[in-house]
Amino acid sequence: MVLADLGKRINGAVNNALSNTEDDYTTTVDSMLKGIVTALLESDVNIALVSKVRSNIKSKLLSENNAANRSVSNGQTKKLIQKTVFDELCNLVDCEVKEPFTPKKKKSNVIMFVGLQGSGKTTSCTKLAVYYQKRGFKVGLVCADTFRAGAFDQLKQNAIKARIPFYGSYTETDPVKVVEEGITKFKKEKFEIIIVDTSGRHRQEEELFQEMIQISNVVKPNQTIMVLDASIGQAAEQQSKAFKDSSDFGAIILTKMDGHAKGGGAISAVAATHTPIIFIGTGEHIHDFEKFSPKSFVSKLLG
Ligand code: GDP
Repeated sequence: MVLADLGKRINGAVNNALSNTEDDYTTTVDSMLKGIVTALLESDVNIALVSKVRSNIKSKLLSENNAANRSVSNGQTKKLIQKTVFDELCNLVDCEVKEPFTPKKKKSNVIMFVGLQGSGKTTSCTKLAVYYQKRGFKVGLVCADTFRAGAFDQLKQNAIKARIPFYGSYTETDPVKVVEEGITKFKKEKFEIIIVDTSGRHRQEEELFQEMIQISNVVKPNQTIMVLDASIGQAAEQQSKAFKDSSDFGAIILTKMDGHAKGGGAISAVAATHTPIIFIGTGEHIHDFEKFSPKSFVSKLLG
């Protein structure tokens, strides 16, 4: 089930409950929860999370205070049900951090990207570069993917199109060296944001994670961002945990939200790594990029 359908199904479950005035309040809440739970599971949201959502909604709606003498036909009860479901869905995608990263002007802020090949990493690096350039930062892009032939060309083409200065090498095979050179050059030239694009593929996955550790040790990034394809499904959780161990990313960019993403796997990845989504990719174009806010995400989801 795609993300848009998830919204419709949840809405359907809530609306059914609200229009049903025959059953008593508890039975109505229970049947609404059944609909919500099925919709979330079919969207690939992890079962433990779904069960948490279920019990949170249930305990709020059926607490002694709330359940006494309730009738679904009452306007206040309707509002309570809608608000409770809305809040719990927000909690599912919300992951507050005490001090979110904000780049400082007149300093060199280094941002490192990690993620599997095809997730939309290079595209998102350029989108973020444009985002900061528009806000008056001097931004540069470094290509640290020496594994995939064509990786540097891709970044270069994106960077030229977006008019962002870039650094990479056609001959150097050690990504750590390329990164060191790129960062040194950009720091010397007083660049304020240096975005490092890394490899997303290796002969073996373990080698990829080792490379992330090595690059991270040299780059000492101020922020590490994992890029996650929203359509990835249940595999998202395991994948994001593996990246978390090697590169301890502090933020997630969720891509391809314009497509037929189920989205549930990505939602589970947020919970599994306790890491917030900061932007979403909504298309292939440089400007198809939105700041993520849990409330507006859930509002849009529910339509
Ligand atoms: P990388 O291998 O992780 O660097 O991935 P790329 O940046 O090369 O992206 C892989 C493909 O996904 C390309 O065809 C991109 O145009 C496409 N892509 C990236 N982000 C989005 C997005 O938000 N929406 C859509 N529809 N396509 C995207």
